[in-house]
Amino acid sequence: MGIKLDGKKLAEKHREEINKFIQKKIHLGCEPPCMANILVGNDGGSVYYVNSQNKLCSKLGVKVKSIYLEENISEDELINIIQKLNNDKEVKGIILQLPLPKHLNEAVITSKICYEKDIDGLSSVSAGRFYKGEKGFVPCTPKGIIELIKSTNIDMQGKHAVIIGRSNIVGKPAAQLLLNENATVTICHSKTKNLKGICREADILVSAIGKPGFITEEYIKEGAIVIDVGTTMVDGKLKGDICFDEVIEKAAFVTPVPGGVGAMTTTMLIKNLCEELE
Ligand code: NAP
Repeated sequence: MGIKLDGKKLAEKHREEINKFIQKKIHLGCEPPCMANILVGNDGGSVYYVNSQNKLCSKLGVKVKSIYLEENISEDELINIIQKLNNDKEVKGIILQLPLPKHLNEAVITSKICYEKDIDGLSSVSAGRFYKGEKGFVPCTPKGIIELIKSTNIDMQGKHAVIIGRSNIVGKPAAQLLLNENATVTICHSKTKNLKGICREADILVSAIGKPGFITEEYIKEGAIVIDVGTTMVDGKLKGDICFDEVIEKAAFVTPVPGGVGAMTTTMLIKNLCEELE
């Protein structure tokens, strides 16, 4: 029987460190850190995420400028707002909540956030710097994944890490971070052949598919670290990709949903904001 990797508990530990850092800055006469979050329209998931950012910021003493925009805002208007925030000296981090409404080009708009304030690592410049190993912000969800794996105290060097999913916000950056830890990395996706066989060879398995209960114990190597990134609402409940109860019988560590990766993501965002201030 494996161990449940508690994202809530780990996030709390990081929050205490963030809080100490902010209090120290204030004690030295610095302004509390300030970030801006932009929400276009009222997508349920995005509203929830922005509210949880705001709640955490107020708990940690971070100032937030929340900008709520109409669903039908034009690309030019939105870019204009981002550019004003780029020039706002008080604002140290900018978060643009995705997905954007269909008429807005995400790649064009995210690339208008200057990389010094791109704490979610969304822009092409941020991505370029991240993959080249230059100074910049590490995307929050993959950053949380690595922290969860580190919390097991198992060295990632030389381990076979398998990631299912190749999105720009989760799969690809998670693969890069595992590579940085000297793991041997395989990225799988919907066209991968023999997915089960590949997963069964994984010392570290990260699932970011978005298909509830897809990963059964048949996909698991005995003693593996299993990270469940997937989040899907099923009958009003949040479900992960992993069949937790059967997988934990075989794996050494498994993250739950909820209370695993998701619990870390917002905390990593604030951590990025504070790193900017160091
Ligand atoms: P995405 O862009 O939809 O990517 C899903 C990936 O899964 C794609 O690469 C896709 O392959 C692959 N896939 C789909 N079906 C598959 C199958 N049957 N076998 C193997 N691979 C398959 O999603 P995302 O943005 O990366 O998010 C993934 C999941 O994580 C979602 O449930 C999302 O809600 C969740 N998420 C959670 C957090 C958090 O903080 N907890 C943060 C971000 C995302 P193709 O590329 O071939 O289509």
